[in-house]
Amino acid sequence: MTVGVLALQGDFREHVAVLRSLGSDVVLVRRPEELASVNGLVIPGGESSVMDKLTRMFGLAGPLKAAVAAGLPVYGTCAGLIMLADTVLDGIAGQESIGGLDISVRRNAFGSQTASFETDLDVPALGQAPVHAVFIRAPVVESIGPRARALATVTDGRCVAVEQDNLLGTSFHPEITGEYRFHEYFLQKVARAGFGT
Ligand code: GLN
Repeated sequence: MTVGVLALQGDFREHVAVLRSLGSDVVLVRRPEELASVNGLVIPGGESSVMDKLTRMFGLAGPLKAAVAAGLPVYGTCAGLIMLADTVLDGIAGQESIGGLDISVRRNAFGSQTASFETDLDVPALGQAPVHAVFIRAPVVESIGPRARALATVTDGRCVAVEQDNLLGTSFHPEITGEYRFHEYFLQKVARAGFGT
């Protein structure tokens, strides 16, 4: 299985390192030809409004939407989660998303840079040991449609991790804390889906 990492902007290198350490073949995706070669895709953290503009400028937005609709497994962290959301709240004027996840997310929902924080989360789908989660100007999943389901919430009940069939999204950044279980969970989806094989 070849896993792509969208590499237009953001912390794509950290995802590449985690995926390689789990034994995946990794391709950096910046063009439609590269997207066409992968069995799964990770969209990193960064700045969703910039990532949105770049995916459109590089001619990737259309192929990405088509691939998600066709069942490409995609895991988005933070800005990547925003890119996967059907509805984006508090986006900049004209901000679009790839969509696919039946959720609405609110950008920067915990406040500005100074409101970034770390906490331990229960994520039953990943087993008993808590996930140490780093939130950096993170979004929150404000509503969840019938096709998606919550995987984790912070103590006030707000949802910060979701899945829907082949799609996975987290408001936080497992790729920077040595937490590999979300990537392993995603790679299981990639293997099960057999997309493009
Ligand atoms: N606040 C950023 C956005 O709106 C996301 C931050 C992140 O990816 N760490 O895209």
